[in-house]
Amino acid sequence: MTERIVIVGGGQAAVSAALRLRAGGFGGSLDILSEEPVLPYQRPPLSKAYLKGEFTENRMYLRPDALYREQGISMRLNTQALMIDQINSRVDTDKNTKIPYDKLILATGARPRGLPDEIGGGLENVHTFRTLADANLLRDKVRPGQRLLVVGGGYIGLEMAAVAAGLGLEVTLVEVQERILNRVAAPETADWFRALHLKRGVDLREGVGLRQLVSDGHRAVLAALSDDSAVGVDLVVVGIGVSANDGLARAAGLAAQNGILTDEHCRTFDPDIYAVGDCAVFPYRGEPTRLESVQNACDAGEYVADHILGNTIGPYVPDPWFWSDQYDVSLKIAGLNRGYDRVLTRIGEREGGLSVWYFGQNRLLAVDALNDPKSYMMGKRWLGQGLTPDTAALSDPNTPLKAVPTLITPDLQPSFNPRGTRP
Ligand code: ADP
Repeated sequence: MTERIVIVGGGQAAVSAALRLRAGGFGGSLDILSEEPVLPYQRPPLSKAYLKGEFTENRMYLRPDALYREQGISMRLNTQALMIDQINSRVDTDKNTKIPYDKLILATGARPRGLPDEIGGGLENVHTFRTLADANLLRDKVRPGQRLLVVGGGYIGLEMAAVAAGLGLEVTLVEVQERILNRVAAPETADWFRALHLKRGVDLREGVGLRQLVSDGHRAVLAALSDDSAVGVDLVVVGIGVSANDGLARAAGLAAQNGILTDEHCRTFDPDIYAVGDCAVFPYRGEPTRLESVQNACDAGEYVADHILGNTIGPYVPDPWFWSDQYDVSLKIAGLNRGYDRVLTRIGEREGGLSVWYFGQNRLLAVDALNDPKSYMMGKRWLGQGLTPDTAALSDPNTPLKAVPTLITPDLQPSFNPRGTRP
């Protein structure tokens, strides 16, 4: 009998799981432990509308406090889970409480990688960006005319650069790889974003790393770069990726490798412990996969709730999607481009619109739709139905998307199982 469910983590995955448990009729005790001092909030707008000052803090909260109370969800803020005591099935917290569970859901998220202290990571004006607290700090510091150095050309770095350039800061962005978005997108998508940022006056330098931040004792004032140049700085934002928060699981002896390993039901090898969202690795198309997206946080959270309640028995199979807003343009991504061997572009209907289509072994994997909502919608539909479009027709802008012929392509089933990998 499941009478007590504890969720560790206070983000989107945690809230999705909790609300779904109640919606599905779970009447037992439900605790959310969040180390953050504030109610769970939406994360994506932090580096977009919130930083620009367009959203108030109130608008960021996923649900009002009253709703958690109505739903009988015990929201324990400012509370860190210190240890999972599997023998006694309880979680020990830093508030000296021991919270018993029948099922435990780990939704602990990820944390930004920082710069090493030796090159200036600890200086006062050097920031990483993940939480509402980070955004509040930065919101007070992004002032017109300030010189900002962004380290890292992934989506976080680019979004930061876009907001700052829009607010009138002088922005330099360095990306140590040969091009921006190297990890997550094809050169065609990177080219489009590079052109966009250059047009908005961002000094974007690829193949250039940060060698050293020079400080005045407290703050970084100069950045020495790997191409032997230097730029003056008032503010530094570091967007060089994240690490999964898997320490709690690891300490409990659960398998983890930059993410808590789970099976196709989002379950660790302890059948009473699940892991979901940014902290979790699950089998997707036969490979261990960790997704950093709101879609995955919501869907996996709800999936686990259904699984605990016995309302689903099939595997967790996400339909990945993702978006990014920069300046006045929007990127929407459907699918996951991992393992692509062919890329095709299609001119969009809107001025400047473009879609970048990824294929692997002649199968559609993903689409990046750049100011091109129709391609996103069609790509999402095709992916959802396991269809692959004819590439010649797709790359011809005169063939309407609806008229592009498609073929049914088989989906690969998940095949990896962490239960076999107990250390
Ligand atoms: P995020 O979600 O933070 O944007 P990504 O991993 O997608 O994370 O992007 C981070 C980017 O930062 C990558 O393109 C990576 O090559 C780049 N990067 C990592 N370390 C450095 C560094 N020391 N200097 C500049 N760029 C870096």
